Amino acid sequence: MEFAFVDCHCHISAREFEEDLEDVIQRTTEAGVKTLVAVTEEVREFDRVLQLQDRYPDLVAPCFGVHPLQGGGGPEQRSVKPQDLDAALPHFYKHRERLVAVGEIGLDFTPWCAPTQQDRDDQMNVFVKQLDIAKELELPVNVHSRSAAKVTIVTMREQGISRALLHNFAGKPSVALEGVKAGYLFSFPPAVCRNQQRDKLIRKIPLEHICLETDSPALGLDKHARNEPGSIVLSCRHIADVKGLSPQTVQLVTAQNALRLFPKVNQLQRGGF
Ligand SMILES: [Zn+2]
Repeated sequence: MEFAFVDCHCHISAREFEEDLEDVIQRTTEAGVKTLVAVTEEVREFDRVLQLQDRYPDLVAPCFGVHPLQGGGGPEQRSVKPQDLDAALPHFYKHRERLVAVGEIGLDFTPWCAPTQQDRDDQMNVFVKQLDIAKELELPVNVHSRSAAKVTIVTMREQGISRALLHNFAGKPSVALEGVKAGYLFSFPPAVCRNQQRDKLIRKIPLEHICLETDSPALGLDKHARNEPGSIVLSCRHIADVKGLSPQTVQLVTAQNALRLFPKVNQLQRGGF
């Protein structure tokens, strides 16, 4: 097949993959995944994702980003502070040539994650500053939004963002369509196979605005098991089923969408960085 899968949002630099990375990568390429758009959440991951690009230059396409929640989902998880971005800022500029996008950035207003107005203000501050960096570096953005669907899209529009991927979006279809109107794309992980509520959203969003992702090691088919990029085929099949299309069509169109959104993927994979 001419176009293989592009996993538009995965965390291949996560600790969960350190031990058996070779095996994971082998299964990834065997599943037909040609590109991993590798997002980061915290500055401590930036070096790791660049090392992975050195090791797998044809596969790993790095993104730098400071996530609205810091602490990796563990017991120390907390809402982001402006200082977290200050520590990361110089790295964006130093490695700009190697990045395909800015992400994972966004807003997470889940009440127990951002309980105070100050938390939400800090998240907004860090988000908007990274939207500015993306504009300055002429990069698209790879975006997380939870309990903040509308405000995320409105903020990006107000900031003049034209190229964005909203990953694992779970807002209302009417809000998603505002994003479609702004030219944004939406990616869905294998976890959507176990969540019928998302089918309505998938049906409403035109295929030209859909990408595939795994969000590995999270958001797999089995909530309690580590997810891997090779499972992208499950997202593809599910979207095909919901939309009444062939999996080949979904694979082809979503890969074209991904390369349109992340044009530097092609450049990097030709050894251009
Ligand atoms: Zn993610």
